[in-house]
Amino acid sequence: MRELDQTILGVILAVVAVIVLVLFALFYPFRYRKKQLYYKDTVRKKFFKKSLNMKETLSYFSNNWDLSGKLVEEVDTDRSKHAEAAYIFNIEESHKLSSFSKIRLTVEDGKYIRIRASWRESIPYSIDIRAKKSNIEWYLLGIEIPVMSELYRIFTQSPNIWKKIFKDNIILERFLDVHKSIVLIFIREEYVELLVLDERVAIDLVSTVLLIEKAIRSPNLETKAIKVEKLRCYNCMDFIEPTEEYCNKCNSPRPICIICHLDLRIAEKKEIVTLPCCGVYAHRSHLNKWLKIKSQCPNCLADITDW
Ligand SMILES: [Zn+2]
Ligand SMILES: [Zn+2]
Ligand SMILES: [Zn+2]
Repeated sequence: MRELDQTILGVILAVVAVIVLVLFALFYPFRYRKKQLYYKDTVRKKFFKKSLNMKETLSYFSNNWDLSGKLVEEVDTDRSKHAEAAYIFNIEESHKLSSFSKIRLTVEDGKYIRIRASWRESIPYSIDIRAKKSNIEWYLLGIEIPVMSELYRIFTQSPNIWKKIFKDNIILERFLDVHKSIVLIFIREEYVELLVLDERVAIDLVSTVLLIEKAIRSPNLETKAIKVEKLRCYNCMDFIEPTEEYCNKCNSPRPICIICHLDLRIAEKKEIVTLPCCGVYAHRSHLNKWLKIKSQCPNCLADITDW
């Protein structure tokens, strides 16, 4: 009789333990989700399977932005094997996106949408936000805004102003809401660059960037105008439009550091090295750090041990 009691007790305990475990498993994710507002998985998963078609993408943007695009470049396998086509929108001053003068849209790899938009007037602050999962390690680490720092590496020369801006809950929430589709977002003095995985997110982000711009220009932030050094071609010194990847005059690639992906100014030319294998540029200090990890070119993967 005693043995039977013990068996029953054991069974009851086991059942209770299973129920507790099941309840925990069921409710824990909800609590987690509640805590992290942006954890919206199901919708995102659908987008990852989708491959982007340039015509559809373009019509999406034309409809949402009320603009007509002009094809500027077809696939050129030699110089940019991933790009499908690029369109450019010229923005009139009366348009709702008139903070920008030009927007360039590229579909890459059938997966990514790259948007580069030139500011009509330069803004004196810049921030680079890159998803932590991106494959090039980023040596420049700037501010750590809690929550954002879990998902992104954030770099800026002016951390205080960005901390103020991200205190605005709408801006932060809109960012986190779509974070799974963001590869990078650069807001620089002359232009904005976004690399995203679907159209809807691109539209959301562009309007979020406009909110940010409004915040930067608000009287509470005491924004002082600065003179921006324009981007120039490293080969012929001609100006390069921030939406362009190549010099219009000599067709040289726009100078960026292959490691940190920042645009290179003429003023810093002395700090820049050109890789012997494929001619890309890099900050000397960034390349030195890179070579300590790998003796391969970060662009073409050629062996550069003896260089
Ligand atoms: Zn040039
Ligand atoms: Zn660099
Ligand atoms: Zn190379």
